[in-house]
Amino acid sequence: MFEKLKQKLKAVKEKLTGRLQKKSQEIQEAELEELALPPSTPKKTVRPPEHPTLTKVKRAIKKVTHRRLSESDVDDILWDLHVALLESDTALPVAEKIIENVKSELVGREVGLTEDTRALAEKVLKEAVHKVLTPPYQVDLVQIIEKKKREGQPAVMVFFGINGVGKTTTIVKLAKYLKDRGYRPLLAAADTFRAAGIEQLEEHAARIGVPVVKQRRGADAAAVAYDAIAHAKARGYDVVLIDTAGRMQTDVDLMEEMKKIVRVTKPDLKIFVGDALTGNDAVEQALAFERAVGIDGAILCKMDADARGGAALSISQVTGKPIIMLGTGQRYEDLVEFKPELILSALFED
Ligand code: GDP
Repeated sequence: MFEKLKQKLKAVKEKLTGRLQKKSQEIQEAELEELALPPSTPKKTVRPPEHPTLTKVKRAIKKVTHRRLSESDVDDILWDLHVALLESDTALPVAEKIIENVKSELVGREVGLTEDTRALAEKVLKEAVHKVLTPPYQVDLVQIIEKKKREGQPAVMVFFGINGVGKTTTIVKLAKYLKDRGYRPLLAAADTFRAAGIEQLEEHAARIGVPVVKQRRGADAAAVAYDAIAHAKARGYDVVLIDTAGRMQTDVDLMEEMKKIVRVTKPDLKIFVGDALTGNDAVEQALAFERAVGIDGAILCKMDADARGGAALSISQVTGKPIIMLGTGQRYEDLVEFKPELILSALFED
């Protein structure tokens, strides 16, 4: 995961460590200089002796000015970080936010003589990334299902995303995840645009033993979703996962169809599914669905194959919605709950 970004961050970290070290050495030199001054420097001019308090104040000022990191100390490092983030497909406002976080931690900071500069560099970078990864709120799928269960209703979850991102696979993975936790999921094949879409969902679902409600190709997608919910209510299913069509997000008809599905099904969760490999495109797609139907969160697939990592850093910040889960491979069990620590360890651990 994130091999490229990881390597780039490592280079930034090394440079920052070196700079902090240099700063801390400067203090050492300054202090030695001060200590050496009275015995070794011959006094040429005769000046009245300074008041001891004044000497102390001067020394204190000197120390302080030498310890504090100024903007010019870290400017080039921040620039390196900026480039590293953008080259890794991080959205510009998110890269700027990370830089701002790093800058506010560094500029004006005092670097002590005994400072562990490597640990400090890592801490500052990690915290800056952690801040943009922290979800604005949590989405707990199990809690949502449990709440609906208490009301005697199935939880309804609709999935949006353009073709090929991994939406169908993700729905099936999630169905398995929920089945493994003792729930009864039902799938709705509301991608009626492609015959292959319906078949594909059925094939996957059969392998994990989860039923699918479907109609013929070209049927009204909202009607398929509605039928599935009615079926779930009648047969006591706990959760309905609705697969939808995925023509380009700029397609007006598609967005109208999505709006209709939302109107008819009144879902408990609207989930955007994105492909981490597509970087900034995934962020743009998420925004388009957010504007059209309003999403509650995102699932990002193909994290195992994403060398750049920018989409994962950006999507939540740009849309203001949390990443709920991550797809980490092609097997049904390759779905993990999103935790910022997961990304942080992928980025910073050797
Ligand atoms: P859809 O058109 O959005 O429904 O996409 P599919 O579910 O058909 O997936 C498209 C391709 O992406 C398939 O080959 C999947 O196996 C693959 N895929 C989906 N999720 C992941 C993932 O997390 N990692 C990897 N490596 N491949 C994935």
